[in-house]
Amino acid sequence: MSALLPGATLGIIGGGQLARMMALEARRMGYRVAVLDPNEDSPAVPLANSWIASGLDELKGAEQLAKVADVVTIDTEHVPASILAHLERFRPVRPSSSVLRTIQDRKTQRRFLEYINAPQPRCAPVATLGALRREASRLGFPCVIKSRTAGYDGKGQAIARHEGQLESAWDEIGRVPAMLEEFVDFDCEISALLCRTTKGEIRFYTPAHNVHRRHVLHSTVAPAPICPTVEVKALEIAGGIADGLGHVGMMAVEMFIVGGSRLLVNEIAPRPHNSGHFTFGACVTSQFEQHVRAVLGLPLGDPSLSRPAAMINLFGDLWQEGEPDWTKVFSQPEARLHLYEKTEPRPGRKMGHVLVLDSDPQRALRVGETLLQQLEGRSSADANEPAQAPCPG
Ligand code: ADP
Repeated sequence: MSALLPGATLGIIGGGQLARMMALEARRMGYRVAVLDPNEDSPAVPLANSWIASGLDELKGAEQLAKVADVVTIDTEHVPASILAHLERFRPVRPSSSVLRTIQDRKTQRRFLEYINAPQPRCAPVATLGALRREASRLGFPCVIKSRTAGYDGKGQAIARHEGQLESAWDEIGRVPAMLEEFVDFDCEISALLCRTTKGEIRFYTPAHNVHRRHVLHSTVAPAPICPTVEVKALEIAGGIADGLGHVGMMAVEMFIVGGSRLLVNEIAPRPHNSGHFTFGACVTSQFEQHVRAVLGLPLGDPSLSRPAAMINLFGDLWQEGEPDWTKVFSQPEARLHLYEKTEPRPGRKMGHVLVLDSDPQRALRVGETLLQQLEGRSSADANEPAQAPCPG
């Protein structure tokens, strides 16, 4: 396929915040956007030229999308690969159905990583309580059990700290086929973010340092405070994964750093990722523009970091006492507010994020954390412990 030029239509399956930010960038560049989502009030719909009301697993809706779009991409990897395989017969689909098939089941994802020799935590598939007990005694405690499919933001995931917790952990994830993983006592977590074109060219972003709270991303700081050798290794691993999959588009590879310099792959996301939100404001080309460029067959933009930055997620819990006082963010000139226009601020739901730019990334993080406290109506005296433990340098 030759490159699609402005005026062409990008079709996105799923209308969440990732689709919204892709649509923002695509519209800026003069492309048309069609979004498929069951909800009219999903974040991407206000930015789309057309909305297809359909479930993400409905073939008819997907066909309709492919009819109006010149190329199809995704907002989430939880779209049935069989639907993408069907669309591939008459439209380019990026990422492809085969990438999704490998990624969306944790077992095939782990097998693929093993096949390409990417380092990862010790793990095993389990489908019964007996198998869970057997594998847990082999891997040791604590261990983490994760449903093989449909997990995100820590959902479908439970920790067993000792033998006696295995059954309740198994119940917690709904007794579904799962992967059991050793619990990794990591120094810190990073994301290696890259974009790969149809010709196999790859551009890397600077690795970012992530902090999760209750298994959900809380903050990202870029650049990650890691030494150049670890950075080179992380990018090498991520590049190998993208090449091995033949992926087209943005990809985030979440990794643990253990014992100072050992890297273990936690998870692959074949699309723009929450830990890459900093690129939208802090890099010459955001992950959303980059993804759009790759799927349209365009050359990639410059991923360089223009300014170090910290990103803090804003969850629905913030709305418990009513609308947060946004003037706190606006009165900080280095801070940028992103809200996703979600109408129901449920606890734990990602509603937006704040990006803070500063020549010192750790200062950016401190400003971001202070802003969050102010939005929560807390004084700095009752603030949480600083979220960012230093990475090995
Ligand atoms: P999801 O797909 O729901 O985002 P992840 O597998 O990425 O779930 O896990 C979310 C977070 O939970 C990780 O970023 C990490 O902080 C923690 N976690 C996950 N697996 C492990 C593990 N094996 N050892 C230690 N912590 C883990």
